[in-house]
Amino acid sequence: MNMRKPVIAGNWKMYKLLSEAVDTALELKPLVANANHCEIVIAPVFTALNAVAKRLEGSNIKVAAQNCATQNEFGAYTGEVAPVMLKDAGCSYAIIGHSERRQFYGESDEAVNKKTKVTLAVGMTAIVCVGEHLNERESGNAENVVKTQLLGGLSGLTVGDLERIIIAYEPVWAIGTGKTATPEQAQEMHAFIRSVLAETHGADTSNATRILYGGSVKPDNIATLMSQPDVDGALVGGASLEAESFSKIVNYR
Ligand code: PEP
Repeated sequence: MNMRKPVIAGNWKMYKLLSEAVDTALELKPLVANANHCEIVIAPVFTALNAVAKRLEGSNIKVAAQNCATQNEFGAYTGEVAPVMLKDAGCSYAIIGHSERRQFYGESDEAVNKKTKVTLAVGMTAIVCVGEHLNERESGNAENVVKTQLLGGLSGLTVGDLERIIIAYEPVWAIGTGKTATPEQAQEMHAFIRSVLAETHGADTSNATRILYGGSVKPDNIATLMSQPDVDGALVGGASLEAESFSKIVNYR
C-alpha cells in the first residue's frame, strides 16, 4: 500500500516584497487549515523567510528556502546563506537544484549534492529538483539526463538520509510555459525515478520516497496528475503566487 503523504509546495521564486509575502501567507492559512491529507510548503525569498515563518507558527504550512549554501560553517562566503541559518530563520525545507539555478547560476550536480548533504545535516528536508530540457526529451535522452542528475545529486546519501529527501521532477520545458507534461508522461518519468532509487537505495526506500511533479501545475490539472500512482505531490510556481489558486491546488481532492 502507498503510505506516502502527498506534498504540495509553492515556489514563489523572486516575487513578492516582504509585506506581500506575509499577506499571501496569512491569506493562505485559513484556506488550507483543514487540509490534513498533505504537507503544505511555501518558499518565499530569503528576506521574507523569517517573517513568514513567524506568522505561520503553529499552522499546517511549512516554510522552505529556494536555495542554500554548500556548507554550514560560518566564514567569508559573501552572499551565501547556510542551511543552519535557514533553519534558525524558521525553515524546515530547502529546494535544491531548481532548473533556474542550474540554468542561470551554473549549479552542478556536485553542488546539488553538497547542498543536499548540508541541508540534511541540520535536520531539514531537501526537495531535490531534476528534469530534462526539451531538446533532451526530443532526442530521447530524458531518462539519461534525469538519472545522471539523481546519481550525482544523491551521491553518498544513505538509506536514512533518503527519509528526508523529496524528489521534484520538473521537465524544464513545462516550467512557466503553460505546457504541462501529460499525466502519462509524468507517471512514466516518476516510475523511472523510482526504479533508479530502487537500484541505488533499495525497494523499500524507493517506495517510501515522495516524488513531486512540477511544471505548469494549476488548479484544473492537479487532480489528474495526483491520480497517477507515482505522483506524490506538486512543486508549483506561478499558480502558487495567489493564495486562492494555491489553496485550490492544495485542496485538490
Ligand atoms: C517551478 O518554479 O518549480 C515551477 C514548476 O513553475 P510553474 O508552476 O510556474 O511552471
